[in-house]
Amino acid sequence: MRKIEILLITFTILLLLAETRLNAQDKAFKCIVLGNSGGTEGNMSAYMLSNLKSDNYICIDAGTLYNGLSKALKEKSFGKFKLPKTEKLSSETYILKNYIKGYLISHAHIDHIAALVSNAPIDSRKYIYASQYTMENLSNHIFNERISANWGSEGTKNPLKKYKYITLPQNNDIDLNETEMSVKTFYTSHGNDYISSAFLIKSGDSHFLYFGDCGSDEIERNNYMFEIWNSVAELIKEKKLNAIMIECSYPDEQPDNMLYGHLKPCLLTKELNQLARRINEKEPEKALKALKIIISHVKGNGEKNDNSLNTIKYQLEKANNLDVKYIFPEQGEKIEF
Ligand SMILES: [Zn+2]
Ligand SMILES: [Zn+2]
Repeated sequence: MRKIEILLITFTILLLLAETRLNAQDKAFKCIVLGNSGGTEGNMSAYMLSNLKSDNYICIDAGTLYNGLSKALKEKSFGKFKLPKTEKLSSETYILKNYIKGYLISHAHIDHIAALVSNAPIDSRKYIYASQYTMENLSNHIFNERISANWGSEGTKNPLKKYKYITLPQNNDIDLNETEMSVKTFYTSHGNDYISSAFLIKSGDSHFLYFGDCGSDEIERNNYMFEIWNSVAELIKEKKLNAIMIECSYPDEQPDNMLYGHLKPCLLTKELNQLARRINEKEPEKALKALKIIISHVKGNGEKNDNSLNTIKYQLEKANNLDVKYIFPEQGEKIEF
């Protein structure tokens, strides 16, 4: 090979490496998936999230805890975690008590809080963060000495005060205590005048946008999603949004009048196109290239050969005009972004 050819090849490789470096966003978060289905017992919405370099987690929603922790431990998602030799607790309980510093609850539907209620007796004192709407539902209808003992810090005569309620203001950043993260809360519309939440979580200069259950603006006839897209467009331009986790409960075949405040692939695609246009009106197809979109809350249909997840995967990829990177995590898995 001639000298000039070698030089050319070296130059091209260097150029490629530089480009990869420019495009790559530094990872800032790790997320351990304790549950991610849209209601299957033992695998309901719960995601432990922390800064990549820390084990101070917030648990976003708490549909499944113990079962998810068992799976995550089997998958070695906690890396080199070893239970201290003298410890009497199980590994699951140890992590539940010590690693999870608080719960960030998007809404009080049972598939997002079931494990919070059932594990309360073995849990340690910590925080529950939720919007005023969700906190009232939790306090009035769950931790009310009728459905469950009152493990909270308010409501009924004798609150057990294991969980300190912290009500989240809308659109304002507040610190998630004992972690390296803060959160900004948005409302989402979840059918029939019901309010759920989306959380923009920040660590250093990096952000992660989590959606609890939500419907699209078109079906819900409001502009909750549009407002959220408006709020994160600039972050995406500046490459400071590392990933979005959003639900896609049903395949496209689900009729619009039977969505119950959830999304399906064609509606999620429309919403992402809305976001893309907010970022780059002239060339929206370039706006979200390779952005990580983590799909949650796929609902099973109870059939023997349930193929809902594969159908949703296929329909999302087929309509992926924006070239986003769809991620379909499994229970127990650790993902970094
Ligand atoms: Zn819900
Ligand atoms: Zn749900």
